[in-house]
Amino acid sequence: MKEIAIVGGGPAGALCGERLASQGFHVTIFDERLAWEKPCGGGLTHKAIQAYPFLLDGPQPKKIVRTAELISGCGRRARLEMSHPIVIYARKVLNGLLLDRAVAAGCTAVRSRVTSVNTDDPQVRLMAGGEERRSDFVVLAAGARNQLLPETTALGAMDLEMTLGYFVPTEEDIIKVKFLTEFEGYLWSFPRADHLSVGICAKMGQNPTQQLRRHLDQFVQEEKISMEGARFYSHVLPSPEAQTIRGRRIAGKNWAMVGDAAACVDPLTGEGLYYALRSGDLLAQALMEGQPQAYPERLRAAFSADLEFAAKIARRIFRGNFLGGAITTRMVQVLSHSPAFRDLIGEVFSGSQDYRSLKSRLWDQLGVTFVQFARSFLAPRAIIATPRQPRREPSP
Ligand SMILES: Cc1cc2nc3c(=O)[nH]c(=O)nc-3n(C[C@H](O)[C@H](O)[C@H](O)COP(=O)(O)OP(=O)(O)OC[C@H]3O[C@@H](n4cnc5c(N)ncnc54)[C@H](O)[C@@H]3O)c2cc1C
Repeated sequence: MKEIAIVGGGPAGALCGERLASQGFHVTIFDERLAWEKPCGGGLTHKAIQAYPFLLDGPQPKKIVRTAELISGCGRRARLEMSHPIVIYARKVLNGLLLDRAVAAGCTAVRSRVTSVNTDDPQVRLMAGGEERRSDFVVLAAGARNQLLPETTALGAMDLEMTLGYFVPTEEDIIKVKFLTEFEGYLWSFPRADHLSVGICAKMGQNPTQQLRRHLDQFVQEEKISMEGARFYSHVLPSPEAQTIRGRRIAGKNWAMVGDAAACVDPLTGEGLYYALRSGDLLAQALMEGQPQAYPERLRAAFSADLEFAAKIARRIFRGNFLGGAITTRMVQVLSHSPAFRDLIGEVFSGSQDYRSLKSRLWDQLGVTFVQFARSFLAPRAIIATPRQPRREPSP
């Protein structure tokens, strides 16, 4: 197996191509746009930076953010200082960086739309820009909404989120995330090198688009974001259900899916960049070893089982109640009173804490969190009870 065709030159396809070409495979990447400003927050968590340090070390413009503000549905705010920063790219820059690396490793990048893929014969046949191309294996990396192979199952509404947002030419230094009550999704503001990506995501079909737009515009107003020169965007994002992560077929004898096409996205946070890169990497590794059939199992061992767990708890987190209030509101409340809880959620947020071991860590530090919460609740009363010192006038 020598000739590899990759449909889609986003993070998943470009990294897979780079890895394969550097090991002597003949790789052609087909992308209808090549490097472009894909609607996205562009945030890379610690696990992505750890696995692919060139994302932090390179000279490309990016924003390194250490502070995040979480806002509850009733407007309460809590700040997290993250020990590992989130690195935020404009997607045109990130895609360009990954495609340049793929080409430098030996890939051929072709700007062309692939309209059909046929994997029935020993050689794969695909139509790109009106021409038939052949390869030994095809990597499907064309994103969430592409069903190029008839034998694959398209992602349905239950496995997708709708996103709307604006790219706003303004500067900011912190990430903001706002939850809404009884709402499966959230609003965000992600600062980039010279602009903000502000947006809203919500489970497909649960809220009319106009309602999402209203929430988005209200958020922009509340956060006093100047909309001069803002550009609107809209896109779909996989938000896979547990059974989709477990049961959907993502590989065959001469094809495999990576990234959004394989629904490799965290259903709680919408993080997809790390999983796109990692799935491309894992598939390349399996192909290099001549074991493409091992790819789905490796994906599961690396992260799919964790994403499946996240899918099982997502609805409860966004819609559930605890002690008479929304879970997200309670979370923001506890965050603002307990440094230990803040540290833990900071780790979840920056991607250095997985979901499956989170439960036991939450139990382990429940006592500390409770004591800090109670102390902090009592402290303001103690301050109020203390007589105020007379204000000293500055000397002339
Ligand atoms: C609004 C929004 C915000 C997000 N924010 C974040 C975030 O902050 N952090 C994070 O980690 N993830 C985020 N994500 C998710 C992230 O954008 C995706 O998970 C990631 O882009 C997936 O990479 P990919 O390579 O699989 O697919 P894509 O990046 O979608 O790349 C697919 C490529 O295929 C090409 N293509 C499609 N069809 C064809 C065709 N027929 N022929 C040729 N080429 C084709 C496209 O041009 C595109 O370049 C966000 C997503 C959205 C929608």
